[in-house]
Amino acid sequence: MTSATKLARQELIDMVPYQSARRLQAGNGEFNSKIWLNANEAPGNGEYSVNSDCINRYPDFQPSNLIQAYSNYSGISPDNLLATRGADEGIELIIRTFCRAYQDSILICPPTYGMYAISAENHGAEVIKVPLVEQQLDLATLESKVGQTKVVFLCSPGNPTGNLLNKQDIQATIEMFADSAIVVVDEAYIEFSPEATTATWLSKYDNLIVLRTLSKAFALAGLRCGFTLANKAIIELLSKIIAPYPIAAPVAEIASRALNANGLEQMQHRAEQTQQLASSLALWLNKQTWCSQVFPTQANFVLFRCQDEQSKTFIFDCLMANNILIRDQSKQTQLECCLRISIGSEQELNQLKQTLIMSFQTQENQLKVVE
Ligand SMILES: *Cc1c(COP(=O)(O)O)cnc(C)c1O
Repeated sequence: MTSATKLARQELIDMVPYQSARRLQAGNGEFNSKIWLNANEAPGNGEYSVNSDCINRYPDFQPSNLIQAYSNYSGISPDNLLATRGADEGIELIIRTFCRAYQDSILICPPTYGMYAISAENHGAEVIKVPLVEQQLDLATLESKVGQTKVVFLCSPGNPTGNLLNKQDIQATIEMFADSAIVVVDEAYIEFSPEATTATWLSKYDNLIVLRTLSKAFALAGLRCGFTLANKAIIELLSKIIAPYPIAAPVAEIASRALNANGLEQMQHRAEQTQQLASSLALWLNKQTWCSQVFPTQANFVLFRCQDEQSKTFIFDCLMANNILIRDQSKQTQLECCLRISIGSEQELNQLKQTLIMSFQTQENQLKVVE
């Protein structure tokens, strides 16, 4: 037995880490030779240069240019913002702040984003599951869990489902858990549906936290920058446990620029284009005989169900063989035979369609030959 296995927390030895798109398929410098439609990133973006004059100094704990820029964009006061290393760090901080290890639980509504359960497991928090019903919250079952959980994670627009949760259901959930749990609304994709935000409720509900990121509509997944929006008391608690210098100086510099007037205009333009491409991809998928369901989307990806397990594997493998990577979601609750395509550029999506058309033709021909 090595020191690592002898001394480590026992439950970590068998733990399976989050199967992120990049862990399943490493970039290996192949960002230009493959088509990456598996991580809900935006397609290619302009280059940013950084001014590294002060790189010998530690950055400010919360760089004020960055916080002010996000405050201007979101309409949320700087006191109610915490910049983090991606929204993922926000998830982890919330669980560590509110859940006592091996005593408290979080609640999730699958199918949903995988990191809530992974961060909980890492920290020794139980995970209570209240599955969505037809992609919406099951309020009656949620009500039955009041008192059993410390943090409730909702995702709207949802990943990997793509739809918005009914706003009155989110509100009912926040009210239901008012005295017993924090309700986190993960708004990673809110720029594709800005009117649906719940951030305007922060002053009304002191148990609400909203998560945001620059990884999706802002096209900065590689930067690792997200924001937690909450009342001052919550922000102060999270600030106690976050790393001392969470935001690297070059990150703050680039992120601030992405949030200036010009950056915001580009982001909005990108979001509109993405929505058009998503609707036309959804229409196309709907017409395919091998596709049995297309989930309505308010985000930068389309989830669809294949006729059967065999066609799902065929589609995934054909695309992979042609260097087009999408995400298999078929292991998730309720998502048997489902695949998710991130909205890349128009050219990338055309290539995906052509590849599938040709692969199915070839498959049919082969079947005919066999007959
Ligand atoms: C991508 C994503 C995140 C993580 O975003 P980062 O800021 O890149 O860490 C969080 N929640 C959901 C629902 C996501 O899809």
